[in-house]
Amino acid sequence: MSILEAIASNVQAHPERLAYVVNTREGSQSLTWRQLGEQSDRLATYISQYVPGNVPVVVYGHKDPLMIVSFLACSKSGRAYCPVDTSVPAGRLQDIVREVVPSLVIAAEPLPEVSCGNALVLDKCDLERIVAQDGAASTQSLWLGPDDVYYIIFTSGSTGKPKGVQITRDCLDNFVAWGQTLCANAAEQGYVFVNQAPYSFDLSVMDLYLSLSLGGTEFALEKKLLESMATLFERLHTSGATVWVSTPSFAEMCLADPSFSQELLPSMRAMLFCGETLTNRCAERLLEAFPQAEVYNTYGPTESTVAVTGVRVTRDVSQAFVPLPVGTPKPGTSIRIVDADGNEVAPGQKGEIQIVGDSVSVGYFHDHERTAKAFSTHELNGQTMRAYRTGDEGYLQDGMLFYSGRIDLQIKMNGYRIELEDIEANIAKIAGVVRVCVLPVRRPDGSVRSLTAYLVMDRPASSYSSKELRGLRKELASDLPAYMIPKRLRVMDDLPVTNNGKVDRKALAAL
Ligand code: AMP
Repeated sequence: MSILEAIASNVQAHPERLAYVVNTREGSQSLTWRQLGEQSDRLATYISQYVPGNVPVVVYGHKDPLMIVSFLACSKSGRAYCPVDTSVPAGRLQDIVREVVPSLVIAAEPLPEVSCGNALVLDKCDLERIVAQDGAASTQSLWLGPDDVYYIIFTSGSTGKPKGVQITRDCLDNFVAWGQTLCANAAEQGYVFVNQAPYSFDLSVMDLYLSLSLGGTEFALEKKLLESMATLFERLHTSGATVWVSTPSFAEMCLADPSFSQELLPSMRAMLFCGETLTNRCAERLLEAFPQAEVYNTYGPTESTVAVTGVRVTRDVSQAFVPLPVGTPKPGTSIRIVDADGNEVAPGQKGEIQIVGDSVSVGYFHDHERTAKAFSTHELNGQTMRAYRTGDEGYLQDGMLFYSGRIDLQIKMNGYRIELEDIEANIAKIAGVVRVCVLPVRRPDGSVRSLTAYLVMDRPASSYSSKELRGLRKELASDLPAYMIPKRLRVMDDLPVTNNGKVDRKALAAL
């Protein structure tokens, strides 16, 4: 059954159950399954009637219930959607809009100052009006087909412009079929998924589409709520949550408070992690705090639909393997460890992780060059499958995949995927900047704590005031999300360079 058929059958089966709850600092807002079905049908019918062409729709906002209604309405009207969170600043949103050239922009929150070209813009009032009107069910023949692009998620790109990863409905269906098996332990309690990630990050696909496919409730946490642990925990306590989906960083943050335990979340049965290293210590603390929950480490980039390998981490697994494995491939997927020429290395040896399988993206939106660099095809069980070179380094041992770092300048900080060159390209655009290099500041366990930018300006470093640096930071904020703005900016007279004239990152880090 496709995701859209599963959602339709859940609307029929339990119309009064909550499909979506968003928790804000002030309270909560929710949608029943009936409301989700009806409202998305009405918006889909509107889109089919008034918006020409099957061009992707940009959906801007945070966690308002209208976001979920809009995603579903796009799928039901045969359009891909491109979610953009409110944490994305105007400059980046403008880049995305310029790239997509949408016929429709849905703004569940007020749009920043951007030009949407000829696109029709529906704001929150328009949406509320459209979804409140009586209307017919959407036309099923218009729903997205298996090979159609279901969503496009933009991630950090090394050129300074984000790249749009296109995920088809088939990719999503294949991911969902496997993902459901990871949270089967929660079946008896009923499915209530905790959502931490904003919808413009693919980690959110794990909770949203597992919840929608299983007829569950998506229990979303608004960003501002995460600023107060006390209020967050109060809400969590009343959530009835049975499945946890987050980055390990967020779990670590919660674990800092000893009340984060089975007592706080008595129904918790499955905890799914993805996006960055799950340490042995974090997994063991979770197992201790949540004795009734299964803990899973999963791995995958946005380009292969959330995650493609997984492993249940038990105490035995954690004692046997340091670091933890990221698991075995899901059905329909094969992991190859390859050298620089793309040839498989000897078993047990380290190399680049290549993912071959039925949830690999069809490539970057309107970007043949970057697509050709990372994507190819490979034979799997007599079938030609899509393949993606991840830029991750890893090895296979005991049939399991282990992640051991990056072969390029991409990093993860608090779960956020960042290309250091993306930040550098945006800093380099600022007037007066002659040269720039951004380096991660790491914790003893290797995880990234913060970023430092080293800058050479067109004036001596000593003449640069802290006020000017604040101005520079402010300028950067219009193009980069807050998490990509380096914590420290250091103006230097020179940067060390290697023999071939590139910035010597190692020497700089050692300064
Ligand atoms: P994203 O596209 O934001 O999901 O980021 C994907 C990248 O996150 C991967 O290419 C890895 O570098 C990293 N990653 C994902 N899952 C894990 C994991 N379980 N352990 C370590 N790194 C991970």
